[in-house]
Amino acid sequence: MTIHGAKGREFPIVFIPSLNKDRVHSRYRPPKIPIPRALWDVIPSEFSEEEVHYQEERRLLYVGITRGKERVFLSDCLRFGTNKRVTPPSMFLSEILEGPGHHRTEDALEVVDEPEERAETVEELLMDVVIGDVANGDYQHAVEAIAALAKVEGTGSEPLVVPVNVDLEGYLTRLRERYDEPDALHAATAHFSPSRLRSYEECPAKYRFNYVLGIPQMDRTYFELGTVVHGLIEKITKRMVDGDDVGEEEALELLEDAWRSSVWDSEEMERQDRESAQKMVRDFLVRQRGKDARIVGIEQWIDLELEGRRVSGKIDRVDDHGDHLEVTDYKTSRRKESRPKLRADFQMVLYWEGAESAFEKPVRKVGHWYLRLDEEMMVEISPEEREAVLDRARGIIRSVEAMEFPATPDYNTCRFCDYADLCDDRHQ
Ligand code: SF4
Repeated sequence: MTIHGAKGREFPIVFIPSLNKDRVHSRYRPPKIPIPRALWDVIPSEFSEEEVHYQEERRLLYVGITRGKERVFLSDCLRFGTNKRVTPPSMFLSEILEGPGHHRTEDALEVVDEPEERAETVEELLMDVVIGDVANGDYQHAVEAIAALAKVEGTGSEPLVVPVNVDLEGYLTRLRERYDEPDALHAATAHFSPSRLRSYEECPAKYRFNYVLGIPQMDRTYFELGTVVHGLIEKITKRMVDGDDVGEEEALELLEDAWRSSVWDSEEMERQDRESAQKMVRDFLVRQRGKDARIVGIEQWIDLELEGRRVSGKIDRVDDHGDHLEVTDYKTSRRKESRPKLRADFQMVLYWEGAESAFEKPVRKVGHWYLRLDEEMMVEISPEEREAVLDRARGIIRSVEAMEFPATPDYNTCRFCDYADLCDDRHQ
């Protein structure tokens, strides 16, 4: 819930996270259309525009804090997500800490269970993490979880008891097996998604680096831009489905809330991306208002079975047009796909099949909504075309099961491949 959305309401306990610079408080930016000096002179103020902005932000936080009837928890964060840069705390947090009436803890969570119970909970959580990681091939993370499991003793001010039933040796054996024969383990346990299938088709060796060996790809800021805009549009459309209209001003405020300045390497890149994001949100709202179909699915999971394997994915949006559905995937890239490629795309065909089975209604069109270009491209895919794509997917699943991961070097693919330095077969 946003602070704006909480206005006029009260709750026994309120949590306000992210009291960090550029979050709560948001950064001051001079207005694009400056207020004429003459108007400032009519309403004389001893404060600059920037100071007025921070006063407004301070009042907003005050609104948030006064929503709590019994307790209010405020927290900041040293580093958000995978950010490299530390995000300083909000100036408001420093002001609050200077005054009375607060109790400060270094940890975000206060653990109140007895030590034995805590150990049990931690153990259960970590065991789940390890098992899930091993099943998904993320064994680097599994090793970290095992290390954490081994360190359960002595955490916090009251020492935790050592969990007695932890089969560390068992986990390590399974992980060793994975290191020794990662292809075999992957072949036995792999599940699939449109992006995995696409990756295999691009270059099976690249797929192996990523999904079999679990070597992560590099972080890229354009992923961040896409993630922020996707998340925001999801939030806005969910509100619309609930009958709550979101205007441009509020949408841009939500964008500011979600924005993480510290991800960008330079202020100029960040400024350009922020302006792009704002334009995408504005264009989206205008285009959305012209639609009369009912949105029936947002971030809709689909699950299919191919060759006895699970193939899953998440559809951005499903619209119900009465007698048929249309399935849309939002894109923030600058590049448009061609129509023939869209009709042969794993994602489009799997979403088509998945939506028909999830909603028990025929799909008539699938396509991309290019947010950056403010354009939609919807296509019809014939049953024969869909079957051909499903056949390609079945072939890939069989190749993974057969542990076939040949490199298929190509100038363009290798040029942008994160594993080029590791790959002996890269295009020279
Ligand atoms: S460098 Fe080229 S051949 Fe090697 S994994 Fe990457 S895409 Fe495949």
